[in-house]
Amino acid sequence: MPELSSVCVFCGSNGGADPAYVEAARTVGRGLAERSLRLVYGGGNVGMMGAIADSALAAGGDVVGVIPRQIFDLEIGHSGLSDLRVVGSMHERKALMADLADAFVALPGGIGTFEELFEIYTWAQLGLHRKPLGLLDVAGYYEPLRAMLDHAVDQRFLRPETRAMLAFDESLGALLERFAAWEPPARPRLIDRDAS
Ligand code: AMP
Repeated sequence: MPELSSVCVFCGSNGGADPAYVEAARTVGRGLAERSLRLVYGGGNVGMMGAIADSALAAGGDVVGVIPRQIFDLEIGHSGLSDLRVVGSMHERKALMADLADAFVALPGGIGTFEELFEIYTWAQLGLHRKPLGLLDVAGYYEPLRAMLDHAVDQRFLRPETRAMLAFDESLGALLERFAAWEPPARPRLIDRDAS
């Protein structure tokens, strides 16, 4: 895996119930800046999004926000970013975030975070990109999702090698180590032709 220079983080526009979530967003923002990794994120100034951007900026990091014009007011577009890209749609946002990043990390969030993560995960399944992706599991938030994915493997709706493309870990450092060791599958396979 070539060295990373940009990491896209998907995370909630709310801060969640447990203060550990926002604290994790701050730790990740700072951790990316300290490693000279550029943060690519949704460009908002609220919830987990605001926390990660502010902590990366405070630690001297490089931050790019990508926000659709229609939700600029809703998510309070971050006015302190040196690089805020205002785009025309949610689709453009996700495509640009995917282009700008070398890897993807999801922090706790709601359905917007799930949608962004799962789109990039399904693109990996299809071989449309070969970038690593993982979940930062703060305070066990993603335990039910891990169980659901394992259930999908048991029930043969998800291939074990596709399941293995999504790393779960509790710290940014551990996730980045997994990313460094990660090799994408040589050839994506969607349908298990051997299964009866
Ligand atoms: P949430 O996790 O629901 O708080 O949302 C987190 C982020 O995902 C917010 O910036 C939302 O604007 C964004 N989001 C929600 N739905 C989509 C979508 N369909 N495409 C791109 N971003 C989205």
